[in-house]
Amino acid sequence: MNKLLPTSTAGSLPKPSWLAQPEKLWSPWKLDGEELVEGKQDALRLSLADQQQAGIDIVSDGEQTRQHFVTTFIEHLDGVDFEKRETVRIRDRYDASVPTVVGAVSRQKPVFVEDAKFLRRQTTQPIKWALPGPMTMIDTLYDAHYKSREKLAWEFAKILNEEAKELEAAGVDIIQFDEPAFNVFFAEVNEWGVATLERAIEGLKCETAVHICYGYGIKANTDWKKTLGDEWRQYEKTLPTLQKSSIDLISLECHNSHVPMDLIELIRGKKVMVGAIDVASNTIETPEEVAATLRKALQFVDADKLYPSTNCGMAPLSRKIATGKLQALSAGAAIVRQELST
Ligand SMILES: [Zn+2]
Repeated sequence: MNKLLPTSTAGSLPKPSWLAQPEKLWSPWKLDGEELVEGKQDALRLSLADQQQAGIDIVSDGEQTRQHFVTTFIEHLDGVDFEKRETVRIRDRYDASVPTVVGAVSRQKPVFVEDAKFLRRQTTQPIKWALPGPMTMIDTLYDAHYKSREKLAWEFAKILNEEAKELEAAGVDIIQFDEPAFNVFFAEVNEWGVATLERAIEGLKCETAVHICYGYGIKANTDWKKTLGDEWRQYEKTLPTLQKSSIDLISLECHNSHVPMDLIELIRGKKVMVGAIDVASNTIETPEEVAATLRKALQFVDADKLYPSTNCGMAPLSRKIATGKLQALSAGAAIVRQELST
């Protein structure tokens, strides 16, 4: 990107009410068959238009074609039985009924490549595509086959690499891996989590990103956040390893969070997607609030490496609020861009 402070979102945007019930995660589709295929594409175009009208520089599909950022990818793989469900504790935080790994996992055909090609045809702007990271994938499953979190993560990394290479060929400029699990399992992140992520990006020429957050604004997450105390120093445990990795961009939660901003210093040299929009609140930030967060981040990130973004995905918000937040992000970034150019 030649433009200073290019804006983007960390992840999902709300779906239209005719496609899936709004303000809900894992919301079932309201259409099926051919109508669903067309409906998802229409929603993608609307989501893109919202981003463009708000002035977002690096656009995405708003994750309109998936029900959930992890399970939709896994649904397309062999070796996972979605009928056979077990209750597991996700990210040490909440119990969920999840599918079971029953055999060797593999990807028989591309998962998101057609959707990415469709997005590519709609715009000449840089596009970013999100995939789940290996550690977050294993944390959303019950493993009755490999019986080793690490082994399963390496298998998923190989599969993600196949998908990522095809997304790159489809014209995706930035491939982002969502790893909220990196904020929980620190020892594993440093032992093999970052290594599996590097396996997932092996051989890619496009830019790569990792998104590490404190989750969507859902109750299980907001309750968990209350237990974390006044200062959230989780990033401190993983950023030094990521600094040494070959990942280009690191997407972090900053605005309204209790993360001390100076932790970003630990990844000096990397591009940083600075979360300047709180996705756990219905209050739309003012452009000035966004600008204040970005100015604070500028103490620890060089201006040419700062990518203003959202703290996480906005799928659970209303469309009106999400659109307002996109506009605030764009306007806030414009204020600081102006200051930097004078
Ligand atoms: Zn997130």
